[in-house]
Amino acid sequence: MEMDERQIADIVRNVLSNVQGSPAAPEEKPGMARVAMLTAPRRFEVKEFPIPEIGDDDILVKVEGAGVCGTDVYEWKSDPFGYIPLVLGHEGTGEIVRLGKNVKCDTQGRPIQVGDKLVTSVICCNHCYNCRNHPEAPNLCENQGIYGLITDNEKNHLCGWFSTYLHITKGSTYFVVNDLSLDQRMLLEPAAVTTHALEQAKKTGRIKFGSRVLVQGCGPIGLMMIATLRAAGVDKIIAVDGNEKRLDFARRLGAEEIVNFKVLTTLEQRVEAVKNMTDGVGADFAFQCTGNPHAASDVYKYIRRGGGLCEMGFFVNNGECTINPHFDLCNKEIMLVGSWDYGAHEYPNAIAFMKRAKGIGLPLEQLITHRYPLDKMNEAMEMNLSQQGIKICYVAE
Ligand SMILES: [Zn+2]
Ligand SMILES: [Zn+2]
Repeated sequence: MEMDERQIADIVRNVLSNVQGSPAAPEEKPGMARVAMLTAPRRFEVKEFPIPEIGDDDILVKVEGAGVCGTDVYEWKSDPFGYIPLVLGHEGTGEIVRLGKNVKCDTQGRPIQVGDKLVTSVICCNHCYNCRNHPEAPNLCENQGIYGLITDNEKNHLCGWFSTYLHITKGSTYFVVNDLSLDQRMLLEPAAVTTHALEQAKKTGRIKFGSRVLVQGCGPIGLMMIATLRAAGVDKIIAVDGNEKRLDFARRLGAEEIVNFKVLTTLEQRVEAVKNMTDGVGADFAFQCTGNPHAASDVYKYIRRGGGLCEMGFFVNNGECTINPHFDLCNKEIMLVGSWDYGAHEYPNAIAFMKRAKGIGLPLEQLITHRYPLDKMNEAMEMNLSQQGIKICYVAE
């Protein structure tokens, strides 16, 4: 059996890591980038590609880390989007190492230079019906794109954040965020989701200072939503979940009351508990942050007559839910609003929220409970599925 230098180096590294008890970081080869490519359901393979020459309008980023999103796990499990092969990861950040000569500022108009810390946002097609007629809602573009959800292609293999480098090309959106920590930057994309949801909620006119707001579901998005509300000045927040650890964290992020559905096992018990917390009337407003159809039905019962609801739990198709239009909508005159993604123009808002959360001492960065290197991304996905942690991240070595 013939072995090349690389294989020998791998063997030596493996032996050493066994001796030392901790895996050695893979050596970075000059001029090469490594990506975790999804090549089949439940299979990331680490592949190497030469770092390309970048164009005059391009940016090359050395990746520092990226959050794992529910959407990543959904695609990893069974490829429902049909994107395989692809490099996943859209909640990423890193440092600019090369800058095309035409790139002078970020999407917000701020100056940009090599060494800056960067995050990317969404890209619109600018020609679909929504882009042409409703530019105020770019999140509704029919062809919205984002690095980390693009099929691998010969032009650019470095097009997802689960990689050591990201190659940003013309037409993208990106923001310089030198004043945020790595953890804050990895949480910025979900923060854009929740700050957008808050803007949607405000459109109903049913959420104000002093509103009693219920957040159903304390996964990463529900917890981020609680922090967003708290940072926006809402004091009376009721968190609903079945996991005691997550409910504890909800408290630390600003929830004043909690409802554990493993303790209050019937909807009637929970509705009564929520009424007891709200002078007998129910919540003024609710954010539905779970992907569970039963929960999506239940949430209406917690809301008072004249209240509002933002549905933001179904970023993927988790099935249908049943409501009673008489009791749940007409009779209560609930103002219902959906929330989908965010527009790139909302990133400055998310950045402002991130700073505000820090300013008032919310331990947002502690949402990140697990960090994995590139070669362990299959394990990262399994950890996400097991729901033992909260936010799982890829962190470059
Ligand atoms: Zn996401
Ligand atoms: Zn469009």
